[in-house]
Amino acid sequence: MVCTSVKEGSDCFFMSKKGCEFNGGSCHAIIEQCGDCQKIKEFPAGKYCTVFPEPEAKWRVRNCNMATHLKGTIKKETGKVNPLKASKRTAH
Ligand code: SF4
Repeated sequence: MVCTSVKEGSDCFFMSKKGCEFNGGSCHAIIEQCGDCQKIKEFPAGKYCTVFPEPEAKWRVRNCNMATHLKGTIKKETGKVNPLKASKRTAH
């Protein structure tokens, strides 16, 4: 259903005839870590993420998996080599 609160005009899973049913009754604004992520969209109520209703929750434990401004950093973190697979590769 189309949002009529903070992300006015956007199609949203949490919107119902009774209004926004997301935790707290509306989306939460972006946080500092969102930086210049391309998923940010400016609405009359402020800047919000177009993917997640609560950006803070996405950053609580680790980096947001949908962040577009951290591609280089994410690659480094996931670039770990599985020692078992590496030993098999050298055996061939
Ligand atoms: S995708 Fe992640 S980093 Fe980007 S705006 Fe949304 S919560 Fe922030």
